[in-house]
Amino acid sequence: MPPSAAKDAGGAAELRAAELASYTRKAVTERSDLTIVGDAVYDAKAFREEHPGGAHFVSLFGGRDATEAFMEYHRRAWPKARMSKFFVGSLAPSEKPTQVDEGYLRLCAEVNGLLPKGSGGFAPASYWLKAAALIVAALTLEGYMLLRGKTLFLSVLLGLVFAWIGLNIQHDANHGALSRYPAVNYCLGYMQDWIGGNMVLWLQEHVVMHHLHTNDVDHDPDQKAHGALRLKPTDSWLPWHSLQQVYILPGEAMYAFKLLSLDALELLAWRWEGEPISQLAAPLYAPAVVCKLAFWARFVALPLWLQPSLHTAACICATVCTGSFYLAFFFFISHNFDGVASVGPQGSLSRSATFTQRQVETSSNVGGKWLAHLNGGLNYQIEHHLFPRLHHSYYATIAPLVRQRIEAMGYKYSHFPTIGSNLGAMMSHLGKMAARPTSADKLARPSEKSSVECRLRLGAACARGSQASDAASLISWLG
Ligand SMILES: [Zn+2]
Repeated sequence: MPPSAAKDAGGAAELRAAELASYTRKAVTERSDLTIVGDAVYDAKAFREEHPGGAHFVSLFGGRDATEAFMEYHRRAWPKARMSKFFVGSLAPSEKPTQVDEGYLRLCAEVNGLLPKGSGGFAPASYWLKAAALIVAALTLEGYMLLRGKTLFLSVLLGLVFAWIGLNIQHDANHGALSRYPAVNYCLGYMQDWIGGNMVLWLQEHVVMHHLHTNDVDHDPDQKAHGALRLKPTDSWLPWHSLQQVYILPGEAMYAFKLLSLDALELLAWRWEGEPISQLAAPLYAPAVVCKLAFWARFVALPLWLQPSLHTAACICATVCTGSFYLAFFFFISHNFDGVASVGPQGSLSRSATFTQRQVETSSNVGGKWLAHLNGGLNYQIEHHLFPRLHHSYYATIAPLVRQRIEAMGYKYSHFPTIGSNLGAMMSHLGKMAARPTSADKLARPSEKSSVECRLRLGAACARGSQASDAASLISWLG
């Protein structure tokens, strides 16, 4: 047999073996080199090297179901024929494949038609002026204070600039939305480390967990207040929740201390909220640890060494608390408001609801295009959650069409005209959750039926998530 014929025969044998192979979700969870899309299992380790958007996005979904991640990031159907060379087997017949949302794909086609030709939905040229101005402002403020000493006013201003870098640069970069060149997104993603966070943890928390499980009672890390707050009817009520409207805003400022301290422990343990980060993403570990140490050295140790005083320490705290408050405030009001949906057992939406409904009814918009310029478009949370790899400059443009189509689908679209009205809706929601539940509205934790539903969709991660939630504490949330 000539060599090419032998190779063809070998390839055919491999394909036949793949067609016969069958994987349960649990088996895939234990194999970080595999990923599920629809009813098929693929070799994520081989595919990531060819992923046009960058290897690290695929790596983070090693051992997971990436059906909806592909759909929302590419705004089109999975190219099954083109991906056949990475096909290694099928999802076991006992497992329920994640369904593609056809209504969502139709909406994507309409939204793609609104984008400037050839833009691909990436940042327009004008955006880079804003990005450059923010980076220069941060470097100038920090450099000036290192040389001349810190002031409270400039420290608060630096905190705001850090928050705007988070909203306008790292957020888009880590969603792959800034540039069609993955290296640009990857490098600017590290701006998250520059402002005190951590890129890998953010990708795990935000891209892998929050966006795909928004307001899920078990799996959205942003909904895990660890007893500090009662955010949804399924949370246990504790006596201090009756005051949660009073302490929520100062608590948002204090969240910074969790980011700066406990996150380092999560990083060392290579997990977030009890959910392991894929081992396929292990090459990101060393840079993440180096960046964490570098931030502490640059932002805490160096100023205190140059100007050792309580005033310097207070100014450092002012920067991190300002940034933390600004970021937490806007993220919190967009997913916690009167009438917001929660997903999963005893939530208002089932996990089998469409991707579109789960994203739209768990998020809200506030304000208009001017706030979008300031907040990196994240006042358009509905558009952001539907199209996370669309650069934020386009959200205000596509919002009217999206609203029209969403309402035609029969889903609830919440847009608050002002920050005040959104804040009022958030306080109203917190107020309702603060009331001690009566025996009539006390809801039991996941029933047998809901546990089965959880396992079907999420496999072993389900059990881990529930355990993590139960074991969480007030102290760990506050940091
Ligand atoms: Zn996002």
